[in-house]
Amino acid sequence: MSNADVHHTYKKLYSSSKVAKKRAKKLEKMDWSMSLFVLYFGTDIAYDDVAHHTILFGPRYKGLLDEIFKGSSLPEDFSLYLHVPTVTDKSLAPEGCSAAYVLAPVPHLGRADVDWDEIAEEYGDRIIEALEVEMPDLRNHIVTRRHITPKTFESELAAFKGSAFSVAPKLTQSAYFRPSNEDSGIPGLYLVGAGTHPGAVWPRVLNSATATVDLILSNYQ
Ligand SMILES: Cc1cc2nc3c(=O)[nH]c(=O)nc-3n(C[C@H](O)[C@H](O)[C@H](O)COP(=O)(O)OP(=O)(O)OC[C@H]3O[C@@H](n4cnc5c(N)ncnc54)[C@H](O)[C@@H]3O)c2cc1C
Repeated sequence: MSNADVHHTYKKLYSSSKVAKKRAKKLEKMDWSMSLFVLYFGTDIAYDDVAHHTILFGPRYKGLLDEIFKGSSLPEDFSLYLHVPTVTDKSLAPEGCSAAYVLAPVPHLGRADVDWDEIAEEYGDRIIEALEVEMPDLRNHIVTRRHITPKTFESELAAFKGSAFSVAPKLTQSAYFRPSNEDSGIPGLYLVGAGTHPGAVWPRVLNSATATVDLILSNYQ
């Protein structure tokens, strides 16, 4: 049973199989979801007036989405999701401090040729500046920070094109059209996780685990 990225499973883990080669090629023609720039940070003061979850919309909506999903470069602006769990659970940071992460949806690596190693630090600085609307004087209170970029998704998580949510969940890539939880051409290979049926994010990933376990039980009991 493979929980790795579905393209990685076929392309790398089953590289000697003809069926897997065919599956990998088909996956390469599919649309893949966006990637993310994620910045984790800790502060030396407690930001208790911010919400646990905040979405900060940038100046554009449709234009930004078009650039992320159809463009060929990194958009100048961004919309952000800010998560500050210490608002709810103070034990997640030292007393009087906060821990948080912020993410910006960005194009995957197959779409925009961005040198993330070169720009990540400065991109993070711009995000921190934008967050000061919610977290005043943030830049002077960050004591630790770490980022992950589309490149990290690709190199550390083996995510195809650095996509953060695997095969894009559009109509023609959903339900029956999504990679199956049981491979019909490679006996004994089962797939689980975001790239399979029913799809990405936790509720669906857990459902895919249930579906895969049910298949195995029905095949082997
Ligand atoms: C920043 C961020 C925030 C998110 N927030 C939410 C949220 O609030 N709610 C929600 O529902 N979803 C959220 N998601 C989406 C959710 O996390 C994913 O859909 C889910 O983790 C996908 O699960 P998975 O098991 O398919 O893949 P993963 O969780 O990526 O697990 C796959 C694992 O396989 C490992 N692997 C890869 N190749 C191999 C190999 N060859 N051998 C062994 N191991 C290998 C990888 O390292 C990885 O650990 C978020 C995602 C991100 C990136």
